[in-house]
Amino acid sequence: MAIKSFHPPQRTLMGPGPSDVSPRVLAAMARPTLGHLDPVFVSMMDEMKALLKYAFQTQNDLTMPVSAPGSAGMETAFVNLVEPSDKVIVCQNGVFGGRMKENVERCGGTPVMVEGTWGRAVDPQQLEDALKANKDAKIVAFVHAETSTGAMSDAKTLVEIAHKYNCLTIVDAVTSLAGSPIKMDEWKIDAIYSGSQKCLSCTPGLSPVSFGEQAIQKIKNRKSKVQSWFLDLNLVMGYWGGATKRAYHHTAPINALYGLHESLVILQEEGIENSWARHHKNHLALRAGIEAMGLNFIVPENERLPQLNAISVPDGVDEAAVRSILLNDYSLEIGAGLGAMAGKVWRIGLMGHASNKRNILLCLNALDDALGRVKAPVNRGVAVEAALMEMAR
Ligand SMILES: *Cc1c(COP(=O)(O)O)cnc(C)c1O
Repeated sequence: MAIKSFHPPQRTLMGPGPSDVSPRVLAAMARPTLGHLDPVFVSMMDEMKALLKYAFQTQNDLTMPVSAPGSAGMETAFVNLVEPSDKVIVCQNGVFGGRMKENVERCGGTPVMVEGTWGRAVDPQQLEDALKANKDAKIVAFVHAETSTGAMSDAKTLVEIAHKYNCLTIVDAVTSLAGSPIKMDEWKIDAIYSGSQKCLSCTPGLSPVSFGEQAIQKIKNRKSKVQSWFLDLNLVMGYWGGATKRAYHHTAPINALYGLHESLVILQEEGIENSWARHHKNHLALRAGIEAMGLNFIVPENERLPQLNAISVPDGVDEAAVRSILLNDYSLEIGAGLGAMAGKVWRIGLMGHASNKRNILLCLNALDDALGRVKAPVNRGVAVEAALMEMAR
């Protein structure tokens, strides 16, 4: 049997990531591959660093994309900053905080968990109590935008509290970057990581990271080697580093980086404040439609992520059947619940390129049809009108 070329269907991606990729990004990725030390490619890398600094709102020189998905950005932060026996306070209010704990343990550190409520922001008072009880803690880690629940935490306040107790901060901004305000320098975040496939709307597989001066000092003063060769920033910097000559570390994913470059150019053209505002405005339109149907969000309004809308599945409704209808009849993907939320929520992403009016109306129409077909107790035929009214405001 001759296996033929793979041609995926055209979907609309409104789940927790990957999100719809702009045709401009896909076109950029199809351009000719260069050598990873070609001077033309190296000058693109310099532009990439400048664009990423803009996205994170930082002047940090150590700002670059790790050649692997968001999880590798997470590992980069932890393996470089956490030394054996370091105490690390991990705030958990969803699935991704649990992965931070795993990372701390595998680095030989001691995690101290601040267990919050899933579907709520991290409680600053709870963090402060943990810091008071653990004066020897070195690092505070938390997820800014919990994609598993749709909750946004107050990163500025949490970082302030951590610094009061002389802790460095690791912030997961995988879903927040470009969708919700992040001001790395103004908020004095020490280490941050993100992903290419959420609100940047690039293809999956790259993880932008940035490290501030205090974080770099801690890495430089390590007594033990970073246990990951691939993610050791001391070595990666030889390739991505500033003034010095670039040396081979690993073969950069050249064409994937063209894609990220293009997605960051698109962000720069729109303006990051405008991108934040667009995500917020489109959330309000989707919300109007969802609430008109009589469905409910699980996160209180003031702690809600505009780019990830977690909606309760009505009692007795088979949530997977609804998602199947959307996928099969509308070529539309939304997300299921993750971890403790499995079977209880749908997660509708309005991320990056996918955060637009057309997608909102498609999704509300498709949900209206699917919920009717599974006989869910919702108000039919009103969602689109409610969203249009909100859009016209
Ligand atoms: C998606 C996500 C990750 C993991 O990113 P991958 O690219 O899937 O490895 C980490 N943290 C959060 C909050 C995420 O949403």
